Amino acid sequence: MQDCIFCKIVRGEIPAKRLYEDDHVLVFPDINPQAPVHLLVIPKVHVATLYDAQREHEPALGRMLSMAGELARQHGATDGFRTIINTGRVGHQEVYHVHMHILGGSEPLGRMLSKGNRG
Ligand code: AMP
Ligand code: ZN
Repeated sequence: MQDCIFCKIVRGEIPAKRLYEDDHVLVFPDINPQAPVHLLVIPKVHVATLYDAQREHEPALGRMLSMAGELARQHGATDGFRTIINTGRVGHQEVYHVHMHILGGSEPLGRMLSKGNRG
């Protein structure tokens, strides 16, 4: 995808600190961290949203989950963390290339949804 910012990061056209990468996934820090540890884990292949995920993407999507604990621990989230994948308008997805947030730090995070988001 030519214009997708996360595809541009994969291709090295936009700078990002490449914390981990292999054939399937790339990991870099969120540019606007919401917690002391805030990583983004993305498939290298362009998948716009989880609505668009197909069986062929299972190696990348599986890798994202199987790496999460190790990545969190390596970056200092050693006593728990949260993973989030926002999807579409209702999920407040801003970047339309699937990405998994890893959020943590030494203190517990806030509640998963604020009251206003529960309808
Ligand atoms: P969302 O689509 O709402 O799950 O969130 C998109 C996330 O991507 C936000 O947390 C942004 O801070 C982050 N983001 C946007 N552009 C960049 C970038 N160039 N490098 C790192 N993180 C980014
Ligand atoms: Zn993309």
